[in-house]
Amino acid sequence: MKPVFCREAKYHNMMFLAEYPDAQVEVCTRCGEKYVFNKDKKTGRIDNSYYYDVHARDYLQPFGDTMGDYIKEYGVEAYENSIKQRDDHADKMITRSTRKERKGYLKEKKKWLLNDKLSNGFYT
Ligand SMILES: [Zn+2]
Repeated sequence: MKPVFCREAKYHNMMFLAEYPDAQVEVCTRCGEKYVFNKDKKTGRIDNSYYYDVHARDYLQPFGDTMGDYIKEYGVEAYENSIKQRDDHADKMITRSTRKERKGYLKEKKKWLLNDKLSNGFYT
């Protein structure tokens, strides 16, 4: 994905404007730029990579390379909720493991979360 960047902020914040048989029109609520996404003549669907590039904001992840941008776009609270969801999921995945294994896992998780935060420079 090669994000198409916005003039007003880093990412466009796209809003649906109109739908036509052969295209869909959207506008950025930040810079006001309009985009026309053509539909596939056979399937009638928009499935080109350009669409994803313009909508890069929607595909930010709360971890990895886009973590910092995710926090800027959606806020610390959204970030913390998403991390909590990920941890809850991880906790469910290990319910069958022994207590000893769980202890080791929690230790690893702590290290991993710390590294995650440090490597993204968020808590520095
Ligand atoms: Zn924009």
